Amino acid sequence: MAQNRMLQFVTVPKAMPDKRDANVRAQDFHEIYREFADAKAAEQAGRCSQCGVPYCQTHCPLHNNIPDWLRLTAEGRLQEAYELSQATNTFPEICGRICPQDRLCEGNCVIEQSGHGTVTIGAIEKYITDTAWDMGWVKPVKPREERAESVAIIGAGPGGLAAADALRRQGVQVTVYDRYDRAGGLLTYGIPGFKLEKDVVMNRIAQLEQGGVQFQLNCNVGEDIAFDAIRGKHDAVIIATGVYKSRDLGGPNAEAEGIVRAIDYLTASNRKSFGDEVPEFDSGELDAKGKRVVVIGGGDTAMDCVRTAIRQGAQSVKCLYRRDRANMPGSQREVANAEEEGVEFVWLTAPKGFTAGDAVEGVLVERMRLGAPDATGRQAPEVIEGADYIEEADLVIKALGFEPEDLPQLWGTEGLEVTRWGTIKANFGTHATSLPGVYAVGDIVRGASLVVWAIRDGREAAESVLGYLNEVQAVAAE
Ligand SMILES: Cc1cc2nc3c(=O)[nH]c(=O)nc-3n(C[C@H](O)[C@H](O)[C@H](O)COP(=O)(O)OP(=O)(O)OC[C@H]3O[C@@H](n4cnc5c(N)ncnc54)[C@H](O)[C@@H]3O)c2cc1C
Ligand code: SF4
Repeated sequence: MAQNRMLQFVTVPKAMPDKRDANVRAQDFHEIYREFADAKAAEQAGRCSQCGVPYCQTHCPLHNNIPDWLRLTAEGRLQEAYELSQATNTFPEICGRICPQDRLCEGNCVIEQSGHGTVTIGAIEKYITDTAWDMGWVKPVKPREERAESVAIIGAGPGGLAAADALRRQGVQVTVYDRYDRAGGLLTYGIPGFKLEKDVVMNRIAQLEQGGVQFQLNCNVGEDIAFDAIRGKHDAVIIATGVYKSRDLGGPNAEAEGIVRAIDYLTASNRKSFGDEVPEFDSGELDAKGKRVVVIGGGDTAMDCVRTAIRQGAQSVKCLYRRDRANMPGSQREVANAEEEGVEFVWLTAPKGFTAGDAVEGVLVERMRLGAPDATGRQAPEVIEGADYIEEADLVIKALGFEPEDLPQLWGTEGLEVTRWGTIKANFGTHATSLPGVYAVGDIVRGASLVVWAIRDGREAAESVLGYLNEVQAVAAE
């Protein structure tokens, strides 16, 4: 009976939830996809071929039990589907929205490989958990018994929050420190609402708070409290501070007014969506309204900037990237969304400086071509001599990627070892750093990465911390 509802991929075509019209969605910061209707979600889940060796599961960093929760969805057993899905993923509704599924689960779906179009795993994962929230199945954590030990988590992004959740489930006392006024890290202040509405994140934070996780916000570790003081107050520490140092550009007039960093631009926009007062936005400095905007970069951050600028009412929005469409790091789905919304991509172009009067007036652009593959096998861009031109701009947004801050120096902890890239050196299995009782997860270990990897790290580190606390307890009892 159950099996009859599956394997429908030959007769049922792949479908995503409806996308809002580009002209309408470009006017606001709401998510662009609607929810699946119940029948549609069941029908799409029923396309799964129930592989014996599910590559989708292997390629999901959390090894979600995808075929099983698809089957339960197809059978209308949504609460069971939710229980199974949340057993391996702390924030399934968030991953369902923003994982680059084309590179992870869906990109490895056997049906996709056979040309029938992938099962829309992400959209169904989102549907299951959104339904669970609507139905009241998502409950605050209630540990069976409380433990005396306390753990500090520095950084309230997905890595830190996933660890907080896992530790609280075991009754550990958890305090999350963050320098921002709201928890969520890049989920709150980096990723725009049209990909991830802020209520979704805030609901999770409220759930963690109701489950007993303590948040110490507006607390910049290294400034407001010393790292050593935190170590002294808690039995173990997890560092989950992310990477925030923006890569920069040089050349003439690189410091001109109107050339801004992507993280500042996106944070200001997200703060406005919360209704905050943001002087740098209100003064016009970080507002694209009426401006000719040029975004430099080809990753997900650049995609978020161009689409934010469209929504702010820019006069025009162009994205300069030094390789071509096929060789950009950003998701192809996001490029298509951006193009539909009116963004123009200028491939094979790189900035070599800027023209400016009182403020920036244009970008000095070099045209590029793709040369021989480099050591990584990727074709290296080369300058085409004599083909330079000026791209006029009133606002230039630099979205060239992020690097780690120098934590040992900022925090005065020389014993905390870092790699040659400045990321914290941590064991990839246990997440233990060079300092006893100190663990590290997410972007500060991996470099700029993905939400789903931060969640995996956080869950694994929580396991290691529990083992460590148990060992300390056992030694104390001897
Ligand atoms: C614009 C943008 C768009 C993205 N889009 C996607 C996407 O669509 N899908 C996806 O999977 N990934 C995306 N990513 C990547 C993803 O957001 C990150 O990989 C993920 O958030 C990393 O999680 P984290 O917990 O390691 O760090 P973060 O989310 O960066 O959180 C770190 C937290 O630590 C806090 N902190 C830092 N230093 C201190 C200190 N000294 N004291 C106290 N607190 C501190 C910060 O305030 C922050 O809240 C995007 C990233 C950006 C920048
Ligand atoms: S967590 Fe991400 S990769 Fe894993 S199933 Fe969900 S959408 Fe796919």
